[in-house]
Amino acid sequence: NANKKFHNGRLVVDVNGVKIGGGEFQIIAGPCSVESREQVCFVAECVKKSGAGFLRGGAFKPRTSPYAFQGLLGEGIDLLLEAKKMTGLPIVSEIMNITHLPLFDPVDVVQVGARNMQNFELLKELGKTKKVILLKRGLANTIDELLMSAEYIMAGGNENVILCERGIRTFETRTRNTLDLSIIPVLKKLTHLPVVIDPSHALGYSYMVKPMALAATAAGADGLMIEVHNDPPHALCDGAQSLTPEAFDDVAKAVFQIRPFACRF
Ligand code: PEP
Ligand code: MN
Repeated sequence: NANKKFHNGRLVVDVNGVKIGGGEFQIIAGPCSVESREQVCFVAECVKKSGAGFLRGGAFKPRTSPYAFQGLLGEGIDLLLEAKKMTGLPIVSEIMNITHLPLFDPVDVVQVGARNMQNFELLKELGKTKKVILLKRGLANTIDELLMSAEYIMAGGNENVILCERGIRTFETRTRNTLDLSIIPVLKKLTHLPVVIDPSHALGYSYMVKPMALAATAAGADGLMIEVHNDPPHALCDGAQSLTPEAFDDVAKAVFQIRPFACRF
Protein backbone atom coordinates (compact mmCIF):
# COMPACT_ATOMS: atom_id res chain seq x y z
CA ASN A 1 0.00 0.00 0.00
CA ALA A 2 1.38 3.40 -1.04
CA ASN A 3 -0.42 5.25 1.79
CA LYS A 4 1.95 6.45 4.51
CA LYS A 5 -0.65 5.70 7.18
CA PHE A 6 -0.04 1.99 6.80
CA HIS A 7 3.72 2.10 7.26
CA ASN A 8 6.07 2.83 10.12
CA GLY A 9 8.55 5.30 8.74
CA ARG A 10 9.77 5.80 5.22
CA LEU A 11 10.78 3.17 2.71
CA VAL A 12 14.52 2.82 2.28
CA VAL A 13 15.22 1.00 -0.98
CA ASP A 14 18.50 -0.90 -0.68
CA VAL A 15 20.11 -2.05 -3.92
CA ASN A 16 23.23 -4.02 -2.95
CA GLY A 17 24.02 -1.48 -0.25
CA VAL A 18 23.16 1.61 -2.31
CA LYS A 19 20.26 3.12 -0.37
CA ILE A 20 17.66 5.65 -1.40
CA GLY A 21 14.79 7.05 0.69
CA GLY A 22 14.37 7.67 4.39
CA GLY A 23 17.21 10.17 4.58
CA GLU A 24 19.42 8.39 2.05
CA PHE A 25 20.05 10.46 -1.08
CA GLN A 26 21.31 9.27 -4.47
CA ILE A 27 21.97 10.64 -7.93
CA ILE A 28 21.01 8.39 -10.84
CA ALA A 29 23.04 9.48 -13.86
CA GLY A 30 23.90 8.28 -17.33
CA PRO A 31 22.97 8.61 -20.96
CA CYS A 32 19.43 8.75 -22.23
CA SER A 33 20.24 5.77 -24.45
CA VAL A 34 23.00 3.22 -24.41
CA GLU A 35 24.75 3.81 -27.74
CA SER A 36 27.95 1.76 -27.58
CA ARG A 37 30.23 -0.03 -25.13
CA GLU A 38 32.73 2.85 -25.22
CA GLN A 39 30.01 5.44 -24.62
CA VAL A 40 28.25 3.78 -21.70
CA CYS A 41 31.45 2.62 -19.98
CA PHE A 42 33.05 6.07 -20.29
CA VAL A 43 29.98 7.87 -18.95
CA ALA A 44 29.64 5.30 -16.15
CA GLU A 45 33.24 5.88 -15.01
CA CYS A 46 32.73 9.65 -15.10
CA VAL A 47 29.46 9.76 -13.16
CA LYS A 48 30.79 7.32 -10.60
CA LYS A 49 33.80 9.60 -10.00
CA SER A 50 31.40 12.50 -9.50
CA GLY A 51 29.46 10.59 -6.85
CA ALA A 52 26.48 9.10 -8.67
CA GLY A 53 25.00 6.07 -6.90
CA PHE A 54 23.27 4.53 -9.93
CA LEU A 55 23.95 4.32 -13.66
CA ARG A 56 20.97 4.90 -15.94
CA GLY A 57 20.73 4.03 -19.62
CA GLY A 58 17.85 3.31 -21.99
CA ALA A 59 17.98 0.12 -24.05
CA PHE A 60 14.31 0.10 -25.11
CA LYS A 61 13.39 3.70 -25.95
CA PRO A 62 9.84 5.08 -26.08
CA ARG A 63 10.36 7.48 -29.00
CA THR A 64 7.64 9.76 -30.33
CA SER A 65 8.60 8.92 -33.91
CA PRO A 66 8.87 5.30 -35.03
CA TYR A 67 11.70 6.42 -37.32
CA ALA A 68 13.82 7.75 -34.44
CA PHE A 69 16.51 5.59 -32.77
CA GLN A 70 14.68 2.92 -30.80
CA GLY A 71 17.60 1.80 -28.63
CA LEU A 72 20.02 -1.12 -28.78
CA LEU A 73 17.39 -3.38 -27.17
CA GLY A 74 18.86 -6.50 -25.53
CA GLU A 75 22.38 -5.53 -26.53
CA GLY A 76 21.87 -2.26 -24.63
CA ILE A 77 21.16 -4.21 -21.45
CA ASP A 78 24.31 -6.32 -22.01
CA LEU A 79 26.41 -3.15 -22.36
CA LEU A 80 24.90 -1.67 -19.20
CA LEU A 81 25.91 -4.86 -17.40
CA GLU A 82 29.47 -4.42 -18.66
CA ALA A 83 29.50 -0.86 -17.32
CA LYS A 84 28.13 -2.16 -14.02
CA LYS A 85 30.90 -4.76 -13.84
CA MET A 86 33.50 -2.05 -14.48
CA THR A 87 32.20 0.50 -12.01
CA GLY A 88 30.13 -1.44 -9.50
CA LEU A 89 27.25 0.99 -10.09
CA PRO A 90 23.79 -0.62 -9.95
CA ILE A 91 21.83 0.00 -13.16
CA VAL A 92 18.46 1.51 -14.03
CA SER A 93 16.75 0.86 -17.38
CA GLU A 94 13.28 1.25 -18.82
CA ILE A 95 10.97 -1.66 -19.63
CA MET A 96 8.20 -1.17 -22.18
CA ASN A 97 6.90 -4.69 -22.73
CA ILE A 98 6.41 -7.35 -20.08
CA THR A 99 7.63 -10.05 -22.49
CA HIS A 100 11.09 -8.45 -22.08
CA LEU A 101 11.11 -9.17 -18.33
CA PRO A 102 13.65 -12.04 -18.56
CA LEU A 103 16.11 -9.60 -20.16
CA PHE A 104 15.69 -7.33 -17.12
CA ASP A 105 16.57 -10.08 -14.67
CA PRO A 106 20.08 -8.66 -14.06
CA VAL A 107 18.83 -5.03 -14.10
CA ASP A 108 18.81 -3.60 -10.56
CA VAL A 109 16.07 -1.00 -10.98
CA VAL A 110 13.37 -1.35 -13.64
CA GLN A 111 12.04 1.97 -14.87
CA VAL A 112 8.44 2.44 -15.98
CA GLY A 113 8.54 5.51 -18.19
CA ALA A 114 6.08 8.39 -18.25
CA ARG A 115 4.36 6.96 -21.32
CA ASN A 116 3.61 3.69 -19.56
CA MET A 117 2.57 5.05 -16.17
CA GLN A 118 -0.97 3.85 -16.80
CA ASN A 119 -0.12 0.65 -18.64
CA PHE A 120 -1.98 -1.23 -15.95
CA GLU A 121 -1.23 -4.71 -17.28
CA LEU A 122 2.51 -3.91 -17.26
CA LEU A 123 2.19 -2.55 -13.70
CA LYS A 124 0.30 -5.65 -12.52
CA GLU A 125 2.96 -7.97 -13.94
CA LEU A 126 5.76 -5.93 -12.33
CA GLY A 127 3.81 -6.19 -9.09
CA LYS A 128 4.30 -9.96 -9.18
CA THR A 129 8.09 -9.55 -9.29
CA LYS A 130 10.56 -8.55 -6.60
CA LYS A 131 12.25 -5.96 -8.83
CA VAL A 132 12.81 -2.41 -7.57
CA ILE A 133 10.57 -0.24 -9.78
CA LEU A 134 11.21 3.42 -10.62
CA LEU A 135 7.80 4.72 -11.64
CA LYS A 136 7.73 7.98 -13.58
CA ARG A 137 4.78 10.35 -13.53
CA GLY A 138 2.90 10.48 -16.83
CA LEU A 139 3.06 13.55 -19.03
CA ALA A 140 -0.47 14.55 -18.10
CA ASN A 141 -1.20 12.65 -14.93
CA THR A 142 -2.16 13.92 -11.51
CA ILE A 143 -0.32 13.04 -8.32
CA ASP A 144 -3.24 10.86 -7.25
CA GLU A 145 -3.05 8.97 -10.53
CA LEU A 146 0.68 8.44 -9.98
CA LEU A 147 -0.05 7.04 -6.53
CA MET A 148 -2.73 4.74 -7.92
CA SER A 149 -0.23 3.41 -10.46
CA ALA A 150 2.20 2.74 -7.60
CA GLU A 151 -0.70 0.98 -5.91
CA TYR A 152 -1.10 -1.33 -8.93
CA ILE A 153 2.48 -2.52 -8.44
CA MET A 154 2.21 -2.77 -4.66
CA ALA A 155 -1.16 -4.53 -4.70
CA GLY A 156 0.59 -7.49 -6.34
CA GLY A 157 3.01 -7.76 -3.42
CA ASN A 158 5.95 -5.72 -4.71
CA GLU A 159 6.56 -2.92 -2.21
CA ASN A 160 9.79 -1.64 -3.79
CA VAL A 161 8.57 1.41 -5.65
CA ILE A 162 10.42 4.70 -6.18
CA LEU A 163 8.36 7.61 -7.54
CA CYS A 164 9.78 10.04 -10.09
CA GLU A 165 8.62 13.48 -11.22
CA ARG A 166 9.88 14.24 -14.74
CA GLY A 167 7.77 17.26 -15.69
CA ILE A 168 4.21 17.56 -16.90
CA ARG A 169 2.50 19.08 -19.93
CA THR A 170 1.32 22.64 -19.43
CA PHE A 171 0.75 25.63 -21.75
CA GLU A 172 4.41 26.62 -21.34
CA THR A 173 6.65 25.88 -24.32
CA ARG A 174 9.95 27.47 -23.23
CA THR A 175 10.67 24.34 -21.27
CA ARG A 176 10.14 20.81 -22.59
CA ASN A 177 7.73 20.15 -19.74
CA THR A 178 6.93 21.96 -16.49
CA LEU A 179 8.77 20.67 -13.43
CA ASP A 180 6.28 20.28 -10.61
CA LEU A 181 8.49 20.55 -7.55
CA SER A 182 5.45 20.92 -5.33
CA ILE A 183 5.10 17.17 -5.76
CA ILE A 184 7.83 16.71 -3.13
CA PRO A 185 5.92 18.00 -0.08
CA VAL A 186 2.67 16.51 -1.42
CA LEU A 187 4.15 13.03 -1.84
CA LYS A 188 5.99 13.30 1.49
CA LYS A 189 2.63 13.93 3.14
CA LEU A 190 0.82 11.11 1.36
CA THR A 191 3.30 8.30 0.93
CA HIS A 192 6.35 6.64 2.50
CA LEU A 193 7.90 5.93 -0.94
CA PRO A 194 11.16 7.60 -2.08
CA VAL A 195 10.80 10.58 -4.41
CA VAL A 196 13.23 11.21 -7.28
CA ILE A 197 13.24 14.37 -9.41
CA ASP A 198 14.36 14.26 -13.04
CA PRO A 199 15.21 17.82 -14.11
CA SER A 200 16.64 16.62 -17.44
CA HIS A 201 13.35 15.44 -18.95
CA ALA A 202 11.36 18.13 -17.14
CA LEU A 203 13.32 21.08 -18.52
CA GLY A 204 14.69 19.69 -21.76
CA TYR A 205 17.75 21.97 -21.90
CA SER A 206 21.06 21.35 -20.20
CA TYR A 207 21.45 24.94 -18.95
CA MET A 208 18.35 24.54 -16.76
CA VAL A 209 19.42 21.31 -15.10
CA LYS A 210 21.70 22.74 -12.39
CA PRO A 211 19.32 25.31 -10.87
CA MET A 212 16.43 22.83 -10.81
CA ALA A 213 18.60 19.99 -9.48
CA LEU A 214 19.60 22.28 -6.61
CA ALA A 215 16.00 23.37 -6.01
CA ALA A 216 14.79 19.76 -5.96
CA THR A 217 17.55 18.81 -3.53
CA ALA A 218 16.76 21.75 -1.24
CA ALA A 219 13.06 20.86 -1.32
CA GLY A 220 13.83 17.41 0.05
CA ALA A 221 13.96 15.01 -2.90
CA ASP A 222 15.44 11.60 -2.08
CA GLY A 223 17.28 11.54 -5.36
CA LEU A 224 17.85 13.04 -8.78
CA MET A 225 17.90 11.51 -12.23
CA ILE A 226 20.23 13.38 -14.58
CA GLU A 227 21.13 12.59 -18.19
CA VAL A 228 24.86 12.68 -18.98
CA HIS A 229 26.43 12.13 -22.41
CA ASN A 230 30.04 12.06 -23.60
CA ASP A 231 29.12 14.17 -26.66
CA PRO A 232 25.67 15.78 -26.19
CA PRO A 233 25.45 17.43 -29.67
CA HIS A 234 25.75 13.99 -31.24
CA ALA A 235 23.57 12.05 -28.79
CA LEU A 236 21.08 9.70 -30.47
CA CYS A 237 18.38 10.82 -28.03
CA ASP A 238 17.83 13.83 -25.73
CA GLY A 239 21.13 15.56 -26.49
CA ALA A 240 19.80 19.06 -25.76
CA GLN A 241 19.15 18.21 -22.12
CA SER A 242 22.22 16.04 -21.59
CA LEU A 243 25.13 17.30 -19.49
CA THR A 244 28.74 16.68 -20.36
CA PRO A 245 30.61 14.71 -17.69
CA GLU A 246 32.31 17.98 -16.62
CA ALA A 247 28.98 19.81 -16.27
CA PHE A 248 27.58 16.86 -14.34
CA ASP A 249 30.54 16.94 -11.98
CA ASP A 250 29.82 20.60 -11.26
CA VAL A 251 26.12 19.90 -10.62
CA ALA A 252 26.86 16.90 -8.40
CA LYS A 253 29.34 18.88 -6.29
CA ALA A 254 26.81 21.67 -5.76
CA VAL A 255 24.03 19.19 -4.97
CA PHE A 256 26.11 17.34 -2.36
CA GLN A 257 27.08 20.69 -0.85
CA ILE A 258 23.52 21.82 -0.23
CA ARG A 259 22.08 18.41 0.63
CA PRO A 260 22.88 18.74 4.38
CA PHE A 261 20.67 21.86 4.50
CA ALA A 262 17.76 20.30 2.59
CA CYS A 263 14.21 20.14 3.89
CA ARG A 264 13.67 16.94 5.93
CA PHE A 265 10.40 15.08 6.05
C1 PEP B 1 14.00 8.40 -20.02
O1 PEP B 1 14.21 8.30 -18.80
O2 PEP B 1 14.91 8.38 -20.88
C2 PEP B 1 12.62 8.64 -20.46
C3 PEP B 1 12.19 8.27 -21.66
O3 PEP B 1 11.90 9.28 -19.53
P1 PEP B 1 10.35 9.72 -19.51
O4 PEP B 1 9.56 8.45 -19.51
O5 PEP B 1 10.25 10.49 -18.24
O6 PEP B 1 10.09 10.55 -20.73
MN1 MN C 1 15.88 10.65 -22.15
